[in-house]
Amino acid sequence: MNVDAEAAIRISALNKWYDTFQVLKNIDLDVAVSERIVVCGPSGSGKSTLIRCINRLEEHQEGRILVNGTPLDDSVKNLDAIRRDVGMVFQHFNLFPHLTVKENCALPQILSRGAQRREAEERAMSFLTKVRIPEQAEKYPGQLSGGQQQRVAIARALCMMPKIMLFDEPTSALDPEMVKEVLDTMVALAEDGMTMIVVTHEMGFARKVADRVVFMESGEIVEIGKPDVFFDAPTQVRTQNFLRNIM
Ligand code: ADP
Ligand code: MG
Repeated sequence: MNVDAEAAIRISALNKWYDTFQVLKNIDLDVAVSERIVVCGPSGSGKSTLIRCINRLEEHQEGRILVNGTPLDDSVKNLDAIRRDVGMVFQHFNLFPHLTVKENCALPQILSRGAQRREAEERAMSFLTKVRIPEQAEKYPGQLSGGQQQRVAIARALCMMPKIMLFDEPTSALDPEMVKEVLDTMVALAEDGMTMIVVTHEMGFARKVADRVVFMESGEIVEIGKPDVFFDAPTQVRTQNFLRNIM
């Protein structure tokens, strides 16, 4: 791909260990602005660890990560800047159970961006409308379906006005009938031009939305390609075996 100064994310020669176990092996990945990357691979292959390194929920030991040109290093200033730019959505939503839906979306803006309450609530309502659940604003997360909770989590992340969104298996904890409503939200986000890295096994989503699909196994990127080539003519035997098992 075009390795230009515009890259949203540049990962080069990334290595990471948990104690003596090497979880990421020589990862190189550049993500362009507005590019949509889908990451797939067997459980334990390092997908979560890789995307968690991008906003330093996990620390890497070797290699370089640049986010919008800012190096992810020991500089607190850089880390703050990167975390402002990068939103994350998790498998298990991670909403605050004791706060209403609206407050889940408003409070982080007030606490970490210094937003005024009125502005924060207005933005919360505008993103809850965008994910099509404004009528749930005064409820608590426990009163919502899984699909609704995940859409709140997406709205909450968007309220921080990120330039990049990371999704870690956002639909894998959902009942099947709720998967589509969450994927539809993510498709809309992609159509708006959001830069996205999505760890998912929803291959229909990958085909429709991804610019490139990454296959990881045992901490390595085994194959990366455009969806039509990746799904219809994967070059690596390990990719072929994986796709045969999940499709
Ligand atoms: P995936 O998301 O592809 O399932 P993970 O990134 O969660 O993979 O995990 C990759 C490997 O690292 C697995 O073998 C997992 O057991 C191990 N691992 C994950 N997190 C930790 C941790 N905090 N400490 C030690 N090992 C971990
Ligand atoms: Mg994972």
